[in-house]
Amino acid sequence: MIFENSSAFALKLDQEDELKDFRNRFFIPTKDGKAVIYFNGNSLGLQPKTAEKYINQELKDWAELAGQGHFKAKNPWVSYHKLLQKPLADLTGASENEVTAMNSLTTNLHLLMVSFYRPDKKKYKIIMENGAFSSDQYAVETQVKFHGFDPQEAIIELAPNKDKNLLATEEIIEAIESNKEEVALILLGGVNFYTGQAFDLEKISAAGHKAGAIVGFDLAHAIGNIKLELHKWDIDFAVWCSYKYLNSGPGGVGGAFVHEKFAKDNSMPRFGGWWGYLEEERFKMEKGFKPMEGVAGWQLSNVPIISLAVQRASLDIFEEAGMDNILQKGKQLTGYLEFLLKQTQDVSPCFDIITPSDPSQRGCQLSLYFKKNAEEIYQRLIEHGVSVDMRRPNVIRVTPVPLYNTFQEVFHFSKRFDSIIKSLSF
Ligand SMILES: *Cc1c(COP(=O)(O)O)cnc(C)c1O
Repeated sequence: MIFENSSAFALKLDQEDELKDFRNRFFIPTKDGKAVIYFNGNSLGLQPKTAEKYINQELKDWAELAGQGHFKAKNPWVSYHKLLQKPLADLTGASENEVTAMNSLTTNLHLLMVSFYRPDKKKYKIIMENGAFSSDQYAVETQVKFHGFDPQEAIIELAPNKDKNLLATEEIIEAIESNKEEVALILLGGVNFYTGQAFDLEKISAAGHKAGAIVGFDLAHAIGNIKLELHKWDIDFAVWCSYKYLNSGPGGVGGAFVHEKFAKDNSMPRFGGWWGYLEEERFKMEKGFKPMEGVAGWQLSNVPIISLAVQRASLDIFEEAGMDNILQKGKQLTGYLEFLLKQTQDVSPCFDIITPSDPSQRGCQLSLYFKKNAEEIYQRLIEHGVSVDMRRPNVIRVTPVPLYNTFQEVFHFSKRFDSIIKSLSF
């Protein structure tokens, strides 16, 4: 598409946008009575207006049925999480028994590492990104120590290419091959939270398996944001949180994927709980853990229904809009943002867009790197009714989300950004 730097053009794109009505399904935050340009959905997604209705249904059933609600509620609580399996399977390219909503992201990472990180003296290393999200670093560091290894030695961090900030697929594959004797686990983000780079999960998976390693992904910034085919790509396991692109509210229930090839493997070590126990016999409460087939066998506890109700409200919107449509609009929206930012850059080259320019290597986030003034720019954007995300000291992440952001917002953002940049001396 040929973009134009004009308000009329942005308006035209909005009018032609088949998803335009979905914005009305969400509460848009305001400042001084005006809608904020909310480009922060990668951090916390907006609230679906239907969330209240979904929650109220459960509150009502709780009030009227109390304990009976487990089996008699409109959506019986004992199986409530199953209502999320289809939409989650659609978003991740999985079959329904490969995905579940449970716990939170870091908890799920630990749980699945218990099963999938099985180091021995020879093969014990983990390959991950340098500068991965802190929680992932802590999870990996403490798992490695738990098994009696030295994190310094056991964790191989892939440092992004110096001038480009990115990790080329070939570099990742090279690192896997050159450590093939020792590597036990490849654990990367599907989309790097800082640079916004989307990795080639399929190629990494193939290279990891060739090296005899397990391949897992943290999809915090990938689910609801990029195309995923976890089953087809033969990913062993994956985990995610739901409050970013999945709009499930602060602290929303996380999720996990375990590939079908492990569905019946009861020999895998794991930490069990009653919600992972064979469903038909769960309430007999007998001794001896028998896991359910598939990822369900990793569930521990009965699920937080109120929180899952919000996730269901949001996932129903994803189902209705269709992920392919969302992705298509996302490419245009972010492409338009990039186009406009580059026009500012042509006049004031004071920042770099460190996210790949290739649309197949990113989702909707663009990360802007400033050598100076980042904090000042960030504060001024907030004053001007723009919500973006600051990664101190130098990076501002700008994320137009296709489900609820518009081309006109991208246009207005770029005008505000442009005037802030031009008013500062670099
Ligand atoms: C958001 C995010 C987290 C947050 O972890 P929680 O367990 O949900 O608090 C962890 N890892 C990555 C990569 C993230 O982007």
